Amino acid sequence: MTEEIRPRLLIIGAGPAGGMAATVAASLGADVTLIEDSIIGGAAHLLDCIPSKTMVASSVRRASVRDSAKLGFVVDEGHMDLGRLAERIDTISSNLSQNATAILEDQGVTIIHGRGSFTGPHSAVAEMSDGSIEIEFDQALISTGSAPRVPEWVVPDGERILTTRDAYDFETVPEHMVVIGSGVTGVEFVNIFSSMGSKVSLLVSRQQVLPHRDPEVAAAIEADFLERGVSLLKGARAVGIDVEEGAVIVRAEDGRSVRGSHALLAIGSVPLSDKLGLEDAGVSSDHGYISVDEYQRTSQPHIYAAGDVTGQMPLSSVASMQGRKIAHHLMGLQVRPLDYAKVAQAVFTEPEIASVGLEEADIAAAGRRIRTTKVPFASNSRSVIHGNTHGFVKVFSDPATHEILGGTIVGHRASELIGILALAVQGRLRVEALVETLMVHPSLSESITEAAE
Ligand SMILES: Cc1cc2nc3c(=O)[nH]c(=O)nc-3n(C[C@H](O)[C@H](O)[C@H](O)COP(=O)(O)OP(=O)(O)OC[C@H]3O[C@@H](n4cnc5c(N)ncnc54)[C@H](O)[C@@H]3O)c2cc1C
Repeated sequence: MTEEIRPRLLIIGAGPAGGMAATVAASLGADVTLIEDSIIGGAAHLLDCIPSKTMVASSVRRASVRDSAKLGFVVDEGHMDLGRLAERIDTISSNLSQNATAILEDQGVTIIHGRGSFTGPHSAVAEMSDGSIEIEFDQALISTGSAPRVPEWVVPDGERILTTRDAYDFETVPEHMVVIGSGVTGVEFVNIFSSMGSKVSLLVSRQQVLPHRDPEVAAAIEADFLERGVSLLKGARAVGIDVEEGAVIVRAEDGRSVRGSHALLAIGSVPLSDKLGLEDAGVSSDHGYISVDEYQRTSQPHIYAAGDVTGQMPLSSVASMQGRKIAHHLMGLQVRPLDYAKVAQAVFTEPEIASVGLEEADIAAAGRRIRTTKVPFASNSRSVIHGNTHGFVKVFSDPATHEILGGTIVGHRASELIGILALAVQGRLRVEALVETLMVHPSLSESITEAAE
């Protein structure tokens, strides 16, 4: 009897990309070794996605309890117990990590807790606290993620000047948070701290928050921020931060400045690829981002890269889908490259923002004819009953074929509702399919079928 040859797959980094690739490749028969220098689940579980959404859950709950008097439920003003919140974040991260570890172990993945780097095109080393191991591999995946970008004009101290990774553990609610950066991460932290009761100032380097999004979406979020008393400084590019006793002063290029208790940098991320021995492996990168083709293969076709380290679309959902497709590809299965235009994404503000497929501006820029239909949540019975009437659903379709090309939702639970439109876009459904779907009444989903009409 001949023994089956199992490909030896080495994965460096166990975030959503590496974790998913390891699980799927092992289940398909690969001999997988996974090196991780932090927790299984990666920065997504420990530092970014999960802790920030846990903070959203608590801070938004506070805001909704505060606003519940309009629903006839009157409570005395509560207070945030930040010690308990920090504990909850730790528990959630470690439970998720333990579950992910158990799944990997069940699949027979060898987990090495250490730092991985390449020593050649088919060899690597894992440095652990008590020694090192040399590893030979047939195929490899680089999924080492990213770290917050820190501009050259500031050194975060983790006390007053913070990156997003320092923003989960406070003793008391910050008095005045100055958020620098108005992309997705910046506006999510504005939501968190203003819902917790902090005064918040937001430095917006351009003329609208979420600069690459539909202006109508940005306007809805700006209106909500202004209603909450958030101070928006538009056209304010931060160039320096001074620390004085108990305060920070954030300076903008045009001479304006804001004094607050803390400053939070939310200005993007940088890839973690500098100490990986990429040159020894013969893997090319561009400004640290690892270059890949549509199947996530690097300049060395037997070495793949996925997730934030590629700079493609920095989302956990994308990273894990890339990991899944890589596992299939390296095991010789047929793979359809990921279509980034069909990725559903959300911004966890309140109201939430979610979109899938093409946005209105993209379709118009491509010179394609488009039919846009829009329904406000103010006309949805469930929204009115729950007192969450902010926002709208927009559906974009092809006027000739009626195919649904995309959609945008601003509103309560938009991140969940967008799934309906994601399925429609992925399945290339026509508007009739949505219009004829009978949703529950009263429900928020009814606005989606109505918007497709
Ligand atoms: C504040 C914030 C909130 C976010 N919220 C969301 C969200 O709501 N939804 C969403 O989809 N995305 C969200 N994201 C983005 C998401 O977190 C990332 O896209 C995702 O973590 C990328 O996954 P990854 O697999 O590339 O790597 P990561 O999750 O970054 O994990 C990589 C792992 O590799 C390890 N590593 C690095 N170098 C080595 C080495 N040499 N040896 C061994 N191990 C190594 C790292 O320690 C890390 O644990 C958020 C990001 C931020 C900053």
